[in-house]
Amino acid sequence: MELNGRVAIVTGGGRGIGRGISMALAREGVDVVVVEAEELSGPYNQHHSTRIDGYKYAVEVAEEIKAMGREALAVESDVSESGDVRGMVESALDRFGRVDILVNNAGVIWRGPLVGFEEEAWDLIFEINVKGVFLCCKAVAPLMMRQGGGRIINISSVAGKRASPRSAAYSASKFAVIGLTQALAFELAPYDVTVNAICPGIIDTMMWRGIISPQFGEEWGISPEEAFERVVNERIPLGRPQTVEDIGDMAVFLCRSDNITGQSINVDGGIRVH
Ligand code: NAD
Repeated sequence: MELNGRVAIVTGGGRGIGRGISMALAREGVDVVVVEAEELSGPYNQHHSTRIDGYKYAVEVAEEIKAMGREALAVESDVSESGDVRGMVESALDRFGRVDILVNNAGVIWRGPLVGFEEEAWDLIFEINVKGVFLCCKAVAPLMMRQGGGRIINISSVAGKRASPRSAAYSASKFAVIGLTQALAFELAPYDVTVNAICPGIIDTMMWRGIISPQFGEEWGISPEEAFERVVNERIPLGRPQTVEDIGDMAVFLCRSDNITGQSINVDGGIRVH
């Protein structure tokens, strides 16, 4: 698919991997709807300390994209709320009249042994990582079917290919994203809509900095920075973390490709080989 002049929705597009994807698409001439949620409410807050002021980041990314000469729109929407998701699509259509690309990137993590893992944390992870992808696909796919084509990219993880200790909820949610990707790829193939997943390895974003590194650090009795270095050195054959640009490049590749669907592609420096 030729990318210049297309319209993309990128959920969680205000920072980290989502920001990398938003910028990579914009560089290819795509106008971007950058979607972010505000703080979570209630008991969930304790499980997700890093997601604060998401919308502020979305506005910043939208401004950066406009400075590059493309169009962009920051939208506040919680992907786990169907009303919000409908509003997100309406905002995109009001502004741009079409949606060619959907990147389901918004996601959260909380780690811990299954025994003792809190039900609220489990529900939060599934509501955002799985139900959020379902709701966004359900809302956007009909537009693409009517338009006669499109690209859906779901961000899974290497944890969606193989689990590790203390990752049951997150890993199960990312396995689910791969299953959803495969089923939807079959359903949308007759409409020339491709559906693929990207499985990133280890990227230094707020997800690692705010949650995973401190948890490993505590487990091993070292600082979060040392824990990050150790994981990179011990687990990645290429010996370096991936970058948000690496994932942006893969998203652009999948958007351009006409003949790849139903795949879950690792961008992980060789952590998982098949
Ligand atoms: P991040 O925490 O930096 O960014 C996640 C973004 O999603 C944030 O901007 C957050 O505000 C947004 N978000 C969270 N819940 C939302 C909701 N309900 N509605 C809308 N937006 C919401 O994390 P990241 O590392 O950039 O992760 C992005 C995606 O990549 C996630 O799905 C994550 O699971 C996946 N991933 C990350 C890594 C990594 O090493 N960082 C590895 C594999 C997969």
